[in-house]
Amino acid sequence: MATLLSTWSFGQVAARAAYPALAAGGSALDAVVAGASAVELDPTVDSVGVGGLPDASGRLSLDASVMTDPDRAGSVCFVRGFAHPTKIARDVMERTIHVMLAGDGAEAFARRLGHAEREQDALTDHARRLYLQWRDTHSDAGAREGYTPPMNVEERYRRDSASGGTGAGRPLPGHDTISLLARDRAGRLAGACTTSGLAFKLPGRVGDSPIIGHGLYVDQRAGAAAGTGTGELIMGVCGSFLIVEFMRQGLDPRSAIRRTLERIAERFALHPDHQAGFIAMAPDGRWASGALRPGFTHCISDEKGTRLEAGEALIGE
Ligand code: ASP
Repeated sequence: MATLLSTWSFGQVAARAAYPALAAGGSALDAVVAGASAVELDPTVDSVGVGGLPDASGRLSLDASVMTDPDRAGSVCFVRGFAHPTKIARDVMERTIHVMLAGDGAEAFARRLGHAEREQDALTDHARRLYLQWRDTHSDAGAREGYTPPMNVEERYRRDSASGGTGAGRPLPGHDTISLLARDRAGRLAGACTTSGLAFKLPGRVGDSPIIGHGLYVDQRAGAAAGTGTGELIMGVCGSFLIVEFMRQGLDPRSAIRRTLERIAERFALHPDHQAGFIAMAPDGRWASGALRPGFTHCISDEKGTRLEAGEALIGE
C-alpha cells in the first residue's frame, strides 16, 4: 500500500500532484519531491516557494531538504532566484558528496545543473502587500535596510499581546512549511520539507526545515518524521530526529510525536504564537500527526483516498 502524508491544507496540492504515481508503484522519493515541487509553484501558498513571504528586508529566500536514510540526505538553505529548492536539495543528495549547500554556493550549483532561474525577490501581490503592511507597522530604519532586526523577538511578542489580539503587532504572521513523508509500494520511506521560513525573519535566518534531524529525518530501519511551525522550537530538541529515535526505541508514531512535543513544552517558555507540528511514519506504514496547539492539519492519501484532517494538539483544544 502506498501512503503520502503531508502538513497543512496545501498538502492536498501535493497529493494531487504526487499520489497517483505513488499509488501506481512510483518511488517514495519521487513522490515527496513531486508533491513539494507542486506546492513550491503554487502562488496562493505564502509560506513555500514562489508565493513565500519575504524576510525583513523584503527579500525571499528558500530552504528545503530531502532524505531517505542517514547516508542519503540533501538540503539547501538561503536560496534565492529559484522556484524549486527541493529539486536542488535532491541533486545535492544524488550528485555531490555533501549534504547541505547554502546561499551563493547552492545557487551556483543549481545554475550549473540547469535549474530554471527566476527573478530574485519576485513577490506575489499578496506577499508584497503583507510585507508592506508589516513594514509600516515595524518602522525601524534598520528593518528597511535589512541588516538589523526590526526589534527583538521578545519586544515583538510584547507588542503583539499589547495589541489585544488584533494582530496589529503580530510577530510571526506566516509560517507553514510543507513537510511530506511517503511510503511506496516497495515499503521504502522518503521525506521532504520546503519553506520560505518564518515571515519577515531577520535576513540570513535559517530555520529547522533544511537541517537534517530538525525539520526532517528518515531512517528506513526506524521511521521518518518531519516538522513545521516555529523552527527555533524544533531546533532546540532536534525534533524530527528525536521522534525517529523514540520510534527506534519502540514507541508508535503518535507517542513519539507526543513525547517530543512534551519535551518542547517542558524546555521552552512558550508564547501563544509558538506552534510546532509534526508528522511521523513507521517503517510498516503506521503514521500520526500532532502539534503543540490546535489548528494544525495534515493531508493523508492512501488506498481510502485523500483526506484533510486535524492533527492532535498537546495543549488545550
Ligand atoms: N519551520 C519553518 C521555519 O521555522 C517555518 C514553518 O514551518 O512554518 O523556517
